[in-house]
Amino acid sequence: MERPISERLFLEAQAHIPGGVSSPVRAFKAVGGTPPFLVRGEGAYVWDADGNRYVDYVLSWGPLILGHAHPEVVRRVKEVAEQGLTFGAPHPLEAELAKVVKRAYPQVELVRFVNSGTEATMSALRLARGYTGRKYIVKFRGNYHGHADGLLVEAGSGALTFGVPSSAGVPEEYAGLTLVLEYNDPEGLRELLRARGEEIAAIIFEPVVGNAGVLIPTEEFLKALHRAREYGILLIADEVMTGFRLAFGGATERLGLKPDLITLGKILGGGLPAAAYGGRREIMEEVAPLGPVYQAGTLSGNPLAMAAGLATLEILERNPGYYGYLETLGARLEAGLKEVLSQKGLPHTVNRMGSMITVFFTEGPVATFQEARRTDTELFKRFFHGLLDRGVYWPPSNFEAAFLSVAHKEEDVAFTLEALEKAL
Ligand code: PLP
Repeated sequence: MERPISERLFLEAQAHIPGGVSSPVRAFKAVGGTPPFLVRGEGAYVWDADGNRYVDYVLSWGPLILGHAHPEVVRRVKEVAEQGLTFGAPHPLEAELAKVVKRAYPQVELVRFVNSGTEATMSALRLARGYTGRKYIVKFRGNYHGHADGLLVEAGSGALTFGVPSSAGVPEEYAGLTLVLEYNDPEGLRELLRARGEEIAAIIFEPVVGNAGVLIPTEEFLKALHRAREYGILLIADEVMTGFRLAFGGATERLGLKPDLITLGKILGGGLPAAAYGGRREIMEEVAPLGPVYQAGTLSGNPLAMAAGLATLEILERNPGYYGYLETLGARLEAGLKEVLSQKGLPHTVNRMGSMITVFFTEGPVATFQEARRTDTELFKRFFHGLLDRGVYWPPSNFEAAFLSVAHKEEDVAFTLEALEKAL
């Protein structure tokens, strides 16, 4: 598959933008080669600037559960756009979207809209600190919550060590307020709680991890997380990726979680920039203008983003069967991938929940970030480029989730599996 136009565009972009991209993974550093410049999408497919078509398993990193350019979503955004793009004033669609969020997450009483998942998690943590009067937070190794300073921290060595910065530019003092634990390690969590439970404002976690590749939480781990609330710690379920994806009520519904705060993004904005954090009234009333925790945004609650999100969520709510469909199609893809990889004699572990899926190239099980890192990244590169060159757009890193949309069909999965067979 030839991509001369993408190649030229990428060279040009690199002259003006660091790495030629607005977000690092798009540069294909983990897999090498030139990223296709995508210029059109419809349903399950995207087209690059050279006119090549791909079955899309990235879906803009998760938002497009209905597929690209869903006609009803596009129509409703257009209608709103014709009335004005932004006002920086209250707009009726904000409360409409908040009501849908509350139907999906019945424990949420108040919701605040922001522009990105990063803002949602950053604001939820500020709120947790303001509410509890404590300064430490806990996150898990390999979980990603956006690029706010205190969250760009990878594991320290062991449960009780301070975090070390994983990005240049994050001061140690700041990173030191983030305690990092291994995901799916209930004992490590219990130990930390016993030692320092009273100092911790919040635990933030991906209820099903997508950002280390897919990792599924164990029952025992989820139980240990909920015990943290006995120490007055707020539990923040970061549902930016899983919200409205694993079920209409996200991982919270699917796994029966009881978080104090949730963060949402991606599907919430239906392809435009919207995200949110929400929870019990008593906590959310600490947010300005009601309370002392400041958080604001010029474009927050933007009418176009509210319209795209509202249209998307209303379609999902009207079609509860979509989640069963995604489960069935996901199971088909999982079984097919395992079959092809077994036939070829390649080591693999496929982790999946619903429409989130990752193939790790290692013998399993893969439940922690450490285990995920055993994947054979050279083999992943072959897998990735083999698919790309045959018209399948898979996430360009092994430590990511691939997604399905309701626009994907059995024949798209069959096309993907055939491509893989030829590629390997
Ligand atoms: N939280 C989770 C679980 C995510 O997957 C992401 C993005 O992938 C974020 C937060 C950050 O969201 P955004 O990229 O919109 O800032």
